Amino acid sequence: MQPKIPLLDLNAQYRSLERDIQAAVGRVLASQQFILGPEVRELEREIAGYCQCSDGVGCASGSDAILLALMACGVGPGDEVITTPFSFFATAGSVARLGAKTVFVDIDEITFNIGPDLIERAITKKTKVIMPVHLFGQCADMDRINELAKANQVAVIEDAAQAIGAEYKQRRAGSLGLIGCFSFYPSKNLGGAGDGGMLTTNDAEVAQTLRDLRSHGARQKYYHNHVGINSRLDSLQAAILRVKFPYLDRWTEARRENAKKYRALFEEHGSSIANNVRLPAESPSAHHVYNQFVIRAKDRDDLRSFLAERGIGTEIYYPLPLHLQACFRGLGYKSGDFPEAERAAQEALAIPIYPELDDAAQRRVVDTISSFYQ
Ligand SMILES: *Cc1c(COP(=O)(O)O)cnc(C)c1O
Repeated sequence: MQPKIPLLDLNAQYRSLERDIQAAVGRVLASQQFILGPEVRELEREIAGYCQCSDGVGCASGSDAILLALMACGVGPGDEVITTPFSFFATAGSVARLGAKTVFVDIDEITFNIGPDLIERAITKKTKVIMPVHLFGQCADMDRINELAKANQVAVIEDAAQAIGAEYKQRRAGSLGLIGCFSFYPSKNLGGAGDGGMLTTNDAEVAQTLRDLRSHGARQKYYHNHVGINSRLDSLQAAILRVKFPYLDRWTEARRENAKKYRALFEEHGSSIANNVRLPAESPSAHHVYNQFVIRAKDRDDLRSFLAERGIGTEIYYPLPLHLQACFRGLGYKSGDFPEAERAAQEALAIPIYPELDDAAQRRVVDTISSFYQ
């Protein structure tokens, strides 16, 4: 029996940093300062700088980052937020939690990202925010989106949870709209030891509002200007993330190298694969950081089982588009409304791309996919 190839192997990364991570945890425990504090402030400074932003605001998760960003834009009942139906639930869930309405727009079939041509038609007087998602680590078409936002005086919030370090025309994700939302969920490119998130912005006033909102809307303790939430980043998470952060670019480069190797390996198999599998495209404007390497595959579900039986881990991001989720039935969408998102949900399959994946494993993944189609 050959060794398993998981979709993601976090052990490999942890083993290489174990001593430094344990020392960092030890320092926080010795300080007994667990909420915000110097480790969080330093991480906020580092991530803001990395994302070409003036400010970073730590919070409890990527989902909360989105919620806080929408709150900072004053989104509430009667407002509309335009976003993609092909994303993780939090993108639209946060809108619903604020009593606002999600207006979905179909995706571009090449990049899986929101289709800018379709956004214009979805804008109404009620539109308050456009929220593109930089899906799988590749930035959405931000010039077009920002133009539309400016012309209609609406804010742009980036769901950059999968895209730390990604670039659009040499500018970093998180600096491309008013507010960027990041997640440190363990499977993200920079993952903590639990939940964590970060907001980035180049607007100092917005940053201050976000800081207030994450602490129940109080700038001065016990004096509340807004109704906020409790969503802070733990010192323990920040300390661990600060150990890992200096390696992020190296890991991203390894992901990009693995993507390149996949392209070469699939190429070797020629037409037997070419007719059945489509590899993810890189937009010329984007620097893709490959949080996921998502292929489109014929007979996707059978291929997935075939790979699983042979010890190869994959995942379906995402099997049911957001507009068809039971909890959003009230929005009135139906099957067929967003054909590209629905087709992607049928065809998309993420295969292993993590930085430590070696050549032999990649070759086995591609050979196994090829043998499925023989
Ligand atoms: C992971 C993710 C989130 C949410 O982040 P959490 O930290 O898990 O709350 C939001 N949007 C997208 C696109 C994500 O991938």
